Amino acid sequence: MNLIFMGPPGAGKGTQAKRIAAAYDLVQLSTGDMLRRAVEEGTEVGRQAKSVMDAGEYVSDDIVVAIVSERIGQPECSKGFILDGFPRTLNQAHSLDKVLASKGLEIDHVVMIRVDDEKLIARIAGRFSCSTCDAAYHDQFNRPKHKNVCDICGGLQFSRRSDDNAEAVAVRLEVYYGQTAPLLPYYEAQKSLRTVDGMADIDVVTEQIKSAINAHGSD
Ligand code: ADP
Ligand code: ADP
Ligand code: ZN
Repeated sequence: MNLIFMGPPGAGKGTQAKRIAAAYDLVQLSTGDMLRRAVEEGTEVGRQAKSVMDAGEYVSDDIVVAIVSERIGQPECSKGFILDGFPRTLNQAHSLDKVLASKGLEIDHVVMIRVDDEKLIARIAGRFSCSTCDAAYHDQFNRPKHKNVCDICGGLQFSRRSDDNAEAVAVRLEVYYGQTAPLLPYYEAQKSLRTVDGMADIDVVTEQIKSAINAHGSD
């Protein structure tokens, strides 16, 4: 089963993709995580992406399409994958369709996680994550069970994203509505769009996603 997780910044894509990947034995492919890793490692892609990401703008379609296509073809993805934060432009969606067709693959469900702007801003302001496994936490809504210890991997190091500041968030929301929201009618027309209420509690959102997937089967 192959899935796309869509939604504005802070909607809970990463949080839910990790849970659904574990439940269905899928690989989470987060373009944001891959790009942040490239920045940390100082690769050519990272060098090109850093300032664009910090400003809240989108990295070029060519770069993200290349990093995703490389991963989709690998054996680790043979049971299926979740594209978390990709595609984000119509051009990326068209490129993805071509890559999938060339490999004989299809997307079974596009899960749209809907959250109001006010909530997104609060979520992004309090977001931090485990430096070891990327698990997302929140100062108010989702603290580790034991203070300063990652629930998932036991890691003791946490970090905050350099683009989770008020100016970059305003740009990210604007770019999302301008460039990514137009993908919704595209996937609606393909009958693969499943919208869930991302404002509910984390566990409730996970259940909604499972029900949406199970209700539609994966053909
Ligand atoms: P968010 O948590 O805001 O949804 P991500 O971690 O998915 O953000 O992405 C962080 C940044 O990485 C984006 O603001 C953008 O600069 C870049 N990025 C991630 N995915 C894409 C993509 N599919 N196309 C272009 N840029 C991307
Ligand atoms: P995205 O990948 O869409 O940018 P994240 O999964 O990183 O979003 O979630 C953004 C922040 O909101 C994180 O701090 C996360 O712990 C928190 N969060 C995620 N889902 C919920 C939810 N349903 N209710 C409250 N907080 C949430
Ligand atoms: Zn961890």
